[in-house]
Amino acid sequence: MAEKFELPKRAMAIFAHPDDADFGCSATMALFAEMGVHTIYCLLTSGNKGTHDPKMSPTRLARLREREQRAAGAELGVKDFVFLRHDDGELEVSMKLRGEVCRAIREMKPDLVLTQDPWRPYQIHPDHRVAGWSAMDGIIAARDHLFFPEQLRRGVTHHRVPRVLLFGTTEPNIWFDVSRTLDKKIAALKAHTSQIRNPALLDRMRQWAATTGRAWGLEAAEAFRYLELG
Ligand SMILES: [Zn+2]
Repeated sequence: MAEKFELPKRAMAIFAHPDDADFGCSATMALFAEMGVHTIYCLLTSGNKGTHDPKMSPTRLARLREREQRAAGAELGVKDFVFLRHDDGELEVSMKLRGEVCRAIREMKPDLVLTQDPWRPYQIHPDHRVAGWSAMDGIIAARDHLFFPEQLRRGVTHHRVPRVLLFGTTEPNIWFDVSRTLDKKIAALKAHTSQIRNPALLDRMRQWAATTGRAWGLEAAEAFRYLELG
C-alpha cells in the first residue's frame, strides 16, 4: 500500500513531547524529506517536567529539550518547528489547545498530519491521548472559516488537511519502507542526550523496525493507521 501513497507537499507531525515523533514516525519523516516534502514538527509541550535533577528548573529544561529537538529534527531534514509550550504532564483536551493546534495548521498548511493514535487501547499517558485528540480536533476546526475566526488574516486562511497518519497505533493499515532512513532515526534519537542514554534502547528501535518490516518482506518499516478525511 505504501508504494501507492501519494507524497504530500507539506507533512506536519503533531505530538506531546520532545522525542515522541522521533520514536514514532521519524524514519518516515526523513524519507519524506529526502523526497522533497517540506516537513514540520509541532510540539504541544517542551518536556519541562521530566527530570530527576533537583537543580533543574522547568524553564531551563524546556530550553534544553527544544535545543535537542531541533538537533534531532536536523538529522531528519525537518524544516520548521512550532513549540506550543504547554506544561509537560498537564495537557488537557480544551478549546484553548484545540485553537492553538488549529492556528498552527492554518499557518503551516500541511496536506498530511502525523500524530499519536488517540484511539490506541490502554494508552495510559494522558499527554499522548490529548495530543492525538487535539490534532484531530484541530484538523476539523482548521477547515471551516467560522471556527476560530479571530485567527484569520492575510496568509492565515482556513485550511483542509485531507490525510492523517496515526503513529503508535495497534491497528496499522499502512507501512513505509524505512530501511534507507533508519540510521537517521537513530541519529535523531541520539540527539535527545538528556533523555536517551541507554544504547540498548536504540538497539530495540532497530529490532522494532525490523519486526514491523518482516511482516511485509522489508528490512525495516514504520507502520501507521492511515485515515482519509472526507
Ligand atoms: Zn511522550
